[in-house]
Amino acid sequence: MESDESQHYTQLPREVIVGKDVISHVGDVCHRLGFRGNALVVSGPITYPLAGERVAKSVAKAGLRVDHVIVKEASESILEEVITKVRQSEVNLVLGVGGGKDIDLAKLSSARAAVQFMSIPTAASHDGIASPYASIKGSSKPYSIRGQAPIAILADIGILAQSPYQLLAAGCGDIVAKYTAVKDWQLAHKLKNEYYGDYAAELALMSAELVSKNSRDITQRKLEGVRTVVEALISCGVAMSIAGSSRPCSGAEHLFSHALDIVAGETSLHGERTGVGAILCAYLQGSNWESIRDFLREIGAPSSAKELKVSPSQIVKALTMAHSLRPERYTILGETGVAGPAAERVAKATGVIE
Ligand SMILES: [Zn+2]
Repeated sequence: MESDESQHYTQLPREVIVGKDVISHVGDVCHRLGFRGNALVVSGPITYPLAGERVAKSVAKAGLRVDHVIVKEASESILEEVITKVRQSEVNLVLGVGGGKDIDLAKLSSARAAVQFMSIPTAASHDGIASPYASIKGSSKPYSIRGQAPIAILADIGILAQSPYQLLAAGCGDIVAKYTAVKDWQLAHKLKNEYYGDYAAELALMSAELVSKNSRDITQRKLEGVRTVVEALISCGVAMSIAGSSRPCSGAEHLFSHALDIVAGETSLHGERTGVGAILCAYLQGSNWESIRDFLREIGAPSSAKELKVSPSQIVKALTMAHSLRPERYTILGETGVAGPAAERVAKATGVIE
């Protein structure tokens, strides 16, 4: 259990740049922040030609020697390979260019090698863009672990707007989950005397409210809509930095999502699962689960087992085991979790299963 501590540690990004064609200015950012020597771009097979190459060129123009590594998944073994490369090549700056996996590997490898990292997302699909936390596949901890906050974030709206709409909708699912995450944090504060920070909680809630209010711009894929989602995701990351934990952004709905990863494998995206988790957990919390479901439907994000490509029994299993993944994180699921028949009733009452 976390408790009140006399010292509170906050690590924030130094520069956040959101706009069209911002990736061609990454070299200027390197120059301003005084980076020299060797840099490493961590990117994926699709995202490297899409954005990684341009990032590498801009960084090289600023006088750094740039190498790159193409990664396919964020596993323990690939993380070790990237850390070895960072150390052996005496890299001073790691640039994560791409989706969640690329950014998570850049974040953790740089943190473990004690160098800085920049976050350059190509999709607005999750709040790891700005947060100090990352997930590693096959890790003994099936939830986000601490890495470090990025020194700079460059969110190129032109690139983000061209990514598949499903990714943007998933980002909205990760953001709407803040309603239930903050409620769980308040519950842990009341029942377990856990530290609670109003400022961080309000920042996370404000992101959820802004995205809910601007759903039309998002579904129409207007640049303003994309900007709203990515700024909300960045604010969520900053909320976690301020809180000193993932609490304002991750409650029982995230435990449900991680449990579903174990039960059903990767059939759907993180944000899609946390969105459905938020429907179930809002029901358990006695709050307005219908508005979360309606928002997800409007956005075009999954709100049912079918849309997550999982079976009703997998939903029930994930909900019953979610509390056990992280016993120190107190949520609406309590210490003993939701019993099987109750979990089935919740999933049916909310229309997540038929
Ligand atoms: Zn999340």
